[in-house]
Amino acid sequence: MTRVNPPATGSVVKITRRERAKATRHRIAEVALARFSEHGYAATTMDTIAHDAGVAMLGLVENLASSVCARCGAEGPLFHEASTEATAVRLDLAVLARIPFDARAAAAADAGQPLAEAADGIFDKLAEEAVRRSAAGAAR
Ligand SMILES: [Zn+2]
Repeated sequence: MTRVNPPATGSVVKITRRERAKATRHRIAEVALARFSEHGYAATTMDTIAHDAGVAMLGLVENLASSVCARCGAEGPLFHEASTEATAVRLDLAVLARIPFDARAAAAADAGQPLAEAADGIFDKLAEEAVRRSAAGAAR
């Protein structure tokens, strides 16, 4: 008796750009947590986290770069002195963006909504800007 195998029924797993980005963010967070747990916060660098996560560092994003007044919209410094420029020079990276403190994002986080979903697609915008700047740098 001859057995005939059924036709192959392979499955294709299609992953969207958004899902891949989410998986990358998750991997980076896991690697960072492992590094912080093993070596401590002060001894953990962005270089080692990027290396362990298998991602390239394209530039810096300064979070909490300023504060926007909820009443009048005036923007001012949140902290006395920022070291972002010095860090950018030390790592030979560009400052891609500066994100002000946003009370709406803070409220969303307090309500359990992930910042990435609450901040009007800010991470997608940052990624697009990083790719644009990287391509411009490569063209030089
Ligand atoms: Zn004000």
